[in-house]
Amino acid sequence: MFVRFLKYFFLIYKKHFSFVAKYKWKFLVSFAASILLLFLLNYAYFAIGSIIDSVNANDAQNVLGAIVKIAIILSLPIIVEPITFHFRSRVFSSVVKDLTAKVYGNVMSLDYSYHTDKETGKLVSKIINTGDVVTMFIWSLDWFTIENLASLLIPLVLISTISSKIALAIFLIIIASLPLFTFALRFNIKRRKILKEADYKRNSIIVDGIGNYETVKSFGRKDEEQHLLDESLLVCESTVNKYQDTFRLIDFVTRLVGIILFACGGYMVYIDFKSGMSSLGESVVVLTYLIQISNRVMGLIFSFREVLKNLPIAEDLYDLLDLKSKITEPPNPVSLSDPEGLIIFDQVEFSYDKKKKVLDKLSLTINPNQNIALVGPSGGGKSTIVKLLMRYYDVDAGSVKIDGIDVRSIATSDLSNVFGLVPQEPVLFNRSILFNVGYSLSSEEGVLRESLSQIEDACEKAQIRDFIRSLPDGYDTVVGERGIKLSGGQKQRLAIARVILKDPEIIIFDEATSMLDSESELAIQKAFTELSKNKTTIIIAHRLSTIIHCDNIFVIDEGQLKESGTHAQLLKKKGIYATLWIIQSGGFKKKLTLNGVNNVKKEFIN
Ligand code: ADP
Repeated sequence: MFVRFLKYFFLIYKKHFSFVAKYKWKFLVSFAASILLLFLLNYAYFAIGSIIDSVNANDAQNVLGAIVKIAIILSLPIIVEPITFHFRSRVFSSVVKDLTAKVYGNVMSLDYSYHTDKETGKLVSKIINTGDVVTMFIWSLDWFTIENLASLLIPLVLISTISSKIALAIFLIIIASLPLFTFALRFNIKRRKILKEADYKRNSIIVDGIGNYETVKSFGRKDEEQHLLDESLLVCESTVNKYQDTFRLIDFVTRLVGIILFACGGYMVYIDFKSGMSSLGESVVVLTYLIQISNRVMGLIFSFREVLKNLPIAEDLYDLLDLKSKITEPPNPVSLSDPEGLIIFDQVEFSYDKKKKVLDKLSLTINPNQNIALVGPSGGGKSTIVKLLMRYYDVDAGSVKIDGIDVRSIATSDLSNVFGLVPQEPVLFNRSILFNVGYSLSSEEGVLRESLSQIEDACEKAQIRDFIRSLPDGYDTVVGERGIKLSGGQKQRLAIARVILKDPEIIIFDEATSMLDSESELAIQKAFTELSKNKTTIIIAHRLSTIIHCDNIFVIDEGQLKESGTHAQLLKKKGIYATLWIIQSGGFKKKLTLNGVNNVKKEFIN
């Protein structure tokens, strides 16, 4: 068990040390200085013994000599202490910086499937824990544990020069008490785990409640949410109390061991003094050290506890660095610098969970500069087609090609340059409109200001310029978290403007299902027409009225291509498309039952 723990510990420490290694000289200087510092601080007590003996023997000359010696020993830390802490704190801040950047970089490089499954709150708190983890290693472990251990061992060595028997007895008492400490610590860590679980639950209730404020309000469920939180807070309160109680156990064990140490050691000092084996000064030194050792045992236990407490947090954090994207870079990427925009899906099969097929032997071709639409019942696989095209996922079988090149052979950076995506519900950064629209150009304010006329131009084409100009802060207006201060239509037009600015070869437009007012819808249509000029465009269409002019319409259902053709051709076929068209254009309203498409289809065919 102990060996397993050591293995686990060193595995994590090795990962931590790979970050410290970059600053190894600073680390070593600080480490050596701290050992010297501890020795100096502990040795001063030892020297007091000779003062007492000299006082006892009325030897004034020696008293003065010993005082000078102690003064010199105590003055050295003036130089050594700042060196210790200066270098240690520099290593700390540099490692926090490097580790945070690396973890964030790795998480951001992970694929779409990781990011769909993640719990944002948990992930963010893991990354924010970086400071705690590095504190644990650099302060709790490399400093406090070493400080406490040294402040325990150095006196023990110094005592052994006076009486090896007493030193051995102290050592044995400490070893014998280890199981007691282990028991108390394990109990403490176990209760802490329960407390953390309760904390997570409470936090997720708060995050969920605040995040769903609108839903809570519109359903009038505020009191129920409050009740849910109150219950969770009660659990937290009781787990905190139980956790705090475990500290009383640790206190009790450490005090008990301290008393045993002092009582046994003190008795042995008394025997030695009585038999004349040690002088008065030596006896005082040993008694002083006994008190120090008792206190240091407590310190050591608490610094161990800090380490044990934070090891799982460190493990979680370093695990994030080990995650690898399932979407790998091709070993010999094919360049796609000036694509034409020919897209071919060839016998594509795909499932998200390897259980249920989402796309089943799907083949379709989109010619360069064509305007095409994907339509069909919800859950049929339209968005999945787009995700495979953008290589958010890899196909299970078959292939997806752009200009005849398999998307898996194209460098991922090249691939993201090819596409411009206007999502159904665009998510904006909680920054200015200038930043959000100019996102593909730069993140730097200065560059964005220089490109203002270009940005304005894109906004004009996206039918949103006049609106922005009417705002008191114009392009400097901050749009709120995820763009909450804008309407759905305004967000979509901003998203169109930023894609116009990016000027990609293939445009993907996930049409908004929300009820946009007809003015917004018209503006979006106009913006989209501007965006799609001379481009290959794919529209995931929810309202068929918007796609009747498309060059080709693919009807996707149950992961298969069921029909394709122009609007007129598909109507003539009297299949799924024609049925959907009738439903949406309000025909056969009286005969429409709530049983869905199939019933309506029957009515139509009959
Ligand atoms: P559409 O765009 O036609 O509405 P989708 O392509 O979004 O359909 O979804 C097709 C099927 O795949 C649905 O059954 C959906 O539940 C499932 N699906 C979509 N995304 C995921 C995901 N990330 N994990 C598991 N299943 C998913």
